[in-house]
Amino acid sequence: MFNFLKDFLLDRSFQLNNFKFNCSGVLKHEHAITPPWVMELHSNTDLSQHIKSETMDYTFRNLTLSLLEDYQDYIKFYTDGSKTEAGVGASPYIGIPGNETADTYAKRAITSPEASLVQICSLGDIKGVLQSLTLQQWQHRWTSSLTKLNVIKPSINPWPTLTTKRRHEVIVNRLRIGHTWLTHNFLMRHEDPTQCTTCGEIITVEHVLLHCRKYADTKTSLNIPDHLYEILGPDLKNFNNTLMFLQQTKLYNLI
Ligand SMILES: [Zn+2]
Repeated sequence: MFNFLKDFLLDRSFQLNNFKFNCSGVLKHEHAITPPWVMELHSNTDLSQHIKSETMDYTFRNLTLSLLEDYQDYIKFYTDGSKTEAGVGASPYIGIPGNETADTYAKRAITSPEASLVQICSLGDIKGVLQSLTLQQWQHRWTSSLTKLNVIKPSINPWPTLTTKRRHEVIVNRLRIGHTWLTHNFLMRHEDPTQCTTCGEIITVEHVLLHCRKYADTKTSLNIPDHLYEILGPDLKNFNNTLMFLQQTKLYNLI
């Protein structure tokens, strides 16, 4: 899987331009020219004295309107960032005219055909989009690649760990990649692939788990599914049944 991903990332077709993604609108982080400690910022934190859970909304509303009267010559911006740990959130400001107006216009802009689309986004936005697009392309490559592995594992999403036993982990991994002692020991003997004495077919993991007549009854009695994806997938019940199948057919030590 690692090599597959490496090839995929090194492939020349994997480029940002392929995503048709416009990076010109990414917001840049720039350092302020003036250090914050020399700026004379006036901050009023009177509202933070009131614990949110112990203060009624209308009390916050009246206190806010009262405060605003002291700042009539100032330009008003409405945000939801004015709170401390114990503090004051945005919801108490319902009923504040400026706040409600800003909220109304924001909602209207989402659906209005007259609203202009501003092509800006943060680095965090791009990271999320690129992650999603990368996974989509990876999934597409995986699905269309000529490998038997994607029959067993159609999705690139990781599977949960089925077992903590080392031997069982080895068994399920060997079955998934189709390389077991049973099916490939002929290579060590420099011989032709081994044929099934019952069916005359070459012994493969697929033949043993799906088609072999010799094991058909055991397979049925243990409710072993008819697809490799189900037999060797992330389902714990199927995994345990497969282990029982291998033990009953005495194939357990041949994997
Ligand atoms: Zn067979």
